[in-house]
Formats: sequence, structure tokens, C-alpha cells
Amino acid sequence: MNRERIYLGLGTNSGNRQDNLQRAIEALSLALGLPAACSSFMESEPWGFESKNSFLNCVVAFDTHLSPTELLCTTEDIERRLGRTKKSIGGQYSDRTIDIDILFYGNKVIKSERLIVPHPLLHLRNFVLQPLHEIAPRLRHPAIGRTIEELLAELSK
Ligand code: AMP
Repeated sequence: MNRERIYLGLGTNSGNRQDNLQRAIEALSLALGLPAACSSFMESEPWGFESKNSFLNCVVAFDTHLSPTELLCTTEDIERRLGRTKKSIGGQYSDRTIDIDILFYGNKVIKSERLIVPHPLLHLRNFVLQPLHEIAPRLRHPAIGRTIEELLAELSK
């Protein structure tokens, strides 16, 4: 199987956030190999829920042989190992040690019970588009047909 370029969105708003992102990137690198690219860390306000704890976010790219489902198992395992206990249920968000979202898996559009790729909210989230823009401005969203640069400009209007 060919390797696919994947983009992961990482976020944390509890504990030592810098450390949480670094530990998640190390764990992902052990599982997937060294990142092809990594954005800087960006501070953002909680999205979709109220909390006094702001987030630190970044986007990391890897090239992987893992299937989408294997990749989801890997990211969920790392979330658990880094101490995330609560999942968001029915769109209810809460503070978290680490959240790992699969933003893109090559050019694939996936809609299964467990996985929606590209991530359905990525084009609405500045904390995803901004770091993504740093490492892949010309990447084209395979369902919407716009580049990250265009999506970011649209969101900033
Ligand atoms: P969350 O608690 O926000 O991390 O949501 C995780 C749940 O969303 C898991 O049960 C996944 O099966 C599901 N999910 C659907 N699409 C994605 C995606 N693109 N990346 C990560 N999780 C996803």
C-alpha cells in the first residue's frame, strides 16, 4: 500500500499544554515515523463550550502506510495514554489533556460510522486553518474544492 500524506490537528487546554503537545508529537512520531511538517503552537479560545482555560493548538503532517481506521485507533490510543478520559459526546465538549483530530487523509473523502474525513468542522475553525496554512497553504480540500489559503481568507471575512 502506498503511503498517504495525513494532517492531524492537536489541541490541549489542561495541564502543561506545551508539554502535552510535545508528548503527543513524540508518541505520534514513534507510531508513524518523523513528521513531514509541524506548525508552530498557537493559542486559541475554547470553541463550542465555555472554559477559563484557553487552548494550545498545532497541526502536524505525516506520511503513513496505516489505513484510516488503523490511524484512528493509533490517535485514540495516544489520547488515552496521555491522560484523556472524557470523549465529547453528542457535540458536548469539555477541557482535555489532548485531542487529536484527523483533518485530511490524502485526497480521500471518508464517511463511516467512526470516521469523517476531511474533518467536518476544519474549514470553520481558525485554530485549525491558521496552523495548517503555515505548513500547507496550497493544500486543496477534496470535498469543498478550495485551498487552505482560500478557506482561511473566507473565514476571516
Ligand atoms: P472527540 O471526542 O472530539 O475527539 O471525538 C472523537 C470521536 O469522533 C471518535 O469517536 C471518532 O470516531 C469520531 N471522529 C469522526 N471523525 C473524526 C476525525 N476526522 N478525527 C477524529 N475523530 C473523528
